[in-house]
Amino acid sequence: MTDRKNRPLSPATRLAQALHHVEERTGAVVPPIQLSATYARGADYAPRQPYIYRRDSNETTEHAEAIIADLEGAAATLLFASGMSAAGAVLESLAPGAHVLAPGVMYHGVLQQMHKHQTTGRLAITQYPAGDLDAMQAAIRPGQTALVWVETPNNPDWTVTDIAAAARIAHDAGARLIADCTATPPCCTRALDLGADISFHSATKYLNGHSDVTAGALSVCETGAIWDAIADVRKLQGTILHSFDAWLLIRGMRTLMLRVERQTENALAIAQHFEGHPLLQSVLYPGLPSHPGHGVALRQTGGMFGGMLSIITKGGEQTAIDTARACRLFYPATSLGGVESLIEHRKTVSGPGFDVHPNLLRLSIGIEDAQDLIDDLEQALTHAVG
Ligand SMILES: *Cc1c(COP(=O)(O)O)cnc(C)c1O
Repeated sequence: MTDRKNRPLSPATRLAQALHHVEERTGAVVPPIQLSATYARGADYAPRQPYIYRRDSNETTEHAEAIIADLEGAAATLLFASGMSAAGAVLESLAPGAHVLAPGVMYHGVLQQMHKHQTTGRLAITQYPAGDLDAMQAAIRPGQTALVWVETPNNPDWTVTDIAAAARIAHDAGARLIADCTATPPCCTRALDLGADISFHSATKYLNGHSDVTAGALSVCETGAIWDAIADVRKLQGTILHSFDAWLLIRGMRTLMLRVERQTENALAIAQHFEGHPLLQSVLYPGLPSHPGHGVALRQTGGMFGGMLSIITKGGEQTAIDTARACRLFYPATSLGGVESLIEHRKTVSGPGFDVHPNLLRLSIGIEDAQDLIDDLEQALTHAVG
């Protein structure tokens, strides 16, 4: 029999209440925004609280970090001013000359950071085909590889990587595993539970969910020297998330569960509708049973596949671009994870040097009515071919 008294609260409950925040002095159920850049010391000249200067830490950003740590099952979370600055801190914290394994297809900005470190000789980067564990195993250098980077499902193909299997490969070689699961936030995938050493999310996307903040989150289940080195980069470079943005993020995260449930439902309806469509070559969505990574995705997300999918149009590249241009509801904009649906011709946005199908349109599905979105895509496809 379930002991109801000892049953832990569901993440949905903890999120909705921002960890049951109540302001001691006033009883306010919404946390204040602590904007102060500096903190006065007490009469004994010691800091009154652990705060000295906002660049180091502040209570609003820490509250947002606590919510994400709770959701991730993490010992600690750090928030950065963007996903890119969070990723940058991880790369920066590695020893000069460290070897890093990264997917051949991944978020273009992080890949650009890696290439930059390679060009300057700071890091050695080897790429493996995303999701291919045999290739990862073959490319890893036991005792030399410091970090294995996994992005799952990866941008913009939505190839799925088995995080637990990747963690075994990394750990057997003495490397650490970082998992970028931005497309399936921690209410879908808890990367640390699956064996990742660092869980990375662009909180700009699903965690915030309203396209009005840029933020990046790193979480770990074990703190120590490596975590301290990452925190040090944030402090020295001044890339902590601003308290105002942290407050918006806290507000956004309260509805994370509802949003992602609806986005998943909508994405699945759209993927099912367009699978086998006469104007499309393919629909890429891990929630479709025909997707090669469906089984692993099901295991890693519990069926909350998220709202990201891509379609590959028939015809030439211009037909794909014209489809994005002809949409009336989908915004022709980059980014993802917001409540409004977005469409983008990925090749135009990621620029030259990235391995992306010229006819690929990336869709970030929002919380609108699914049939309205289907109708919009139908008319756009017909218009583009027309
Ligand atoms: C957006 C994104 C990033 C970068 O995050 P920003 O918040 O835009 O700096 C990294 N990885 C993935 C998968 C992303 O979608």
